[in-house]
Amino acid sequence: MDDSAPDSTPADRPDQPDRPVYVIGGGPAGLSVAYALRARGVRAVVLEKSEQVGASWRRHYDRLHLHTTRRLSALPGLPMPRRFGRWVSRDDVVRYLEKYAEFHELETVTGVEVSRVERTPDGTGWLLHATGGRELTGAAVIVATGYNHTPLLPDWPGREEYKGELLHAGEYRNPAPYAGRDVLVVGVGNTGAEIAVDLVEGGASRVRLSVRTAPHIVRRSTAGWAAQYTGVLVRRLPVGLVDRLARPMAKLSVPDLSAHGLPRPATGLYSRVKEGAIPVQDVGLIDAIRKGRVEVVAAVEGFENSEVMLTDGTRITPDTVIAATGYTRALDGLVGHLDVLDGHGGPLVNGARAPQNAPGLYFTGYVTPISGTFREVAIDAEKIAKTVMKDGAGRLSKLPV
Ligand SMILES: Cc1cc2nc3c(=O)[nH]c(=O)nc-3n(C[C@H](O)[C@H](O)[C@H](O)COP(=O)(O)OP(=O)(O)OC[C@H]3O[C@@H](n4cnc5c(N)ncnc54)[C@H](O)[C@@H]3O)c2cc1C
Repeated sequence: MDDSAPDSTPADRPDQPDRPVYVIGGGPAGLSVAYALRARGVRAVVLEKSEQVGASWRRHYDRLHLHTTRRLSALPGLPMPRRFGRWVSRDDVVRYLEKYAEFHELETVTGVEVSRVERTPDGTGWLLHATGGRELTGAAVIVATGYNHTPLLPDWPGREEYKGELLHAGEYRNPAPYAGRDVLVVGVGNTGAEIAVDLVEGGASRVRLSVRTAPHIVRRSTAGWAAQYTGVLVRRLPVGLVDRLARPMAKLSVPDLSAHGLPRPATGLYSRVKEGAIPVQDVGLIDAIRKGRVEVVAAVEGFENSEVMLTDGTRITPDTVIAATGYTRALDGLVGHLDVLDGHGGPLVNGARAPQNAPGLYFTGYVTPISGTFREVAIDAEKIAKTVMKDGAGRLSKLPV
């Protein structure tokens, strides 16, 4: 990998043939789009703020495996090796991303964080402000800084004064530090659900799971049929239809946990996906709840000294609170001034469409598709590369022959 980013490229020469396409972020989304561009002879430079590619995956908790299948999670141009198994471990995902960049000889510049993207003064390209005062000019820019960018810790009343231990799930690695401890996990997305199970298996003395909205729970695989396959099949069907189809399926495959405090969700499965909540894949939660090893409690309302106040009026005093409360996109500083973000801070468009007011600026990875993000960023990578070629940016950024 090349870690010597150019200090600048000329910003005032629209016909510069050596203006690369810059890809911001060296995760699965950024790497696959860089490959797709390179495969078309376009010079794509990946700017990655960490010292290595795949930074998000290096930080994930130890027991994490992809819940999408190996075959449907491969990025374009390089299958994942069979030896990784059907459900690929975190470490193998990291290995794969490293190998991906190396195998495709991607031009990655690590240790460079892009802080702001703006049009070049002549309007023909994009000027990137990056670490160390660098100013880089690209023919086009692909933003791939990740949907799960910055840990979101809700602004609960009393949070700052809370006397117990409070951490975001992004800091959780394994259950060892919590053996013999009473832990409250807040939030029941895939991360919260899996951490709760991990804590039980790792010897926490008590594990409670705070739930605001009951999630849809699906089996990762039923008789060899991965839940992801269904996601792929239904992803273009009308939301209401998928909601209706999912209801009887859920009743057949997932037991009713109402008696344990987890009723079946009121909103349909696909409607919830469209709101950004993908179903929880069961990796032991159902069993742990039925056996009373994970206790479901109400949502967190706030903190007072050592107490956690729940919305049903209960007050509890766990030793540790782990907030599996999601992430923000944190795109404001980078592109907020370009009027390309929606009310939630996500890009107005994702994939091969540039915002109307920002031609040549693309976003990838800012969706939570029912069919799996790896799969969708892989598909979008090819589409984005084709569009970049068509728009002319590809012609301004040819690889030297
Ligand atoms: C716990 C967890 C499990 C998941 N499991 C699955 C799964 O099983 N299957 C699936 O399909 N999806 C899964 N996802 C969703 C998604 O596929 C992953 O989050 C994936 O890593 C997204 O890839 P990305 O490239 O968009 O973002 P990231 O992997 O987050 O990569 C973004 C990169 O950009 C860099 N960066 C950020 N800001 C800047 C900047 N300003 N300048 C330069 N570099 C920057 C970061 O350091 C990072 O390397 C999971 C997500 C999480 C959180």
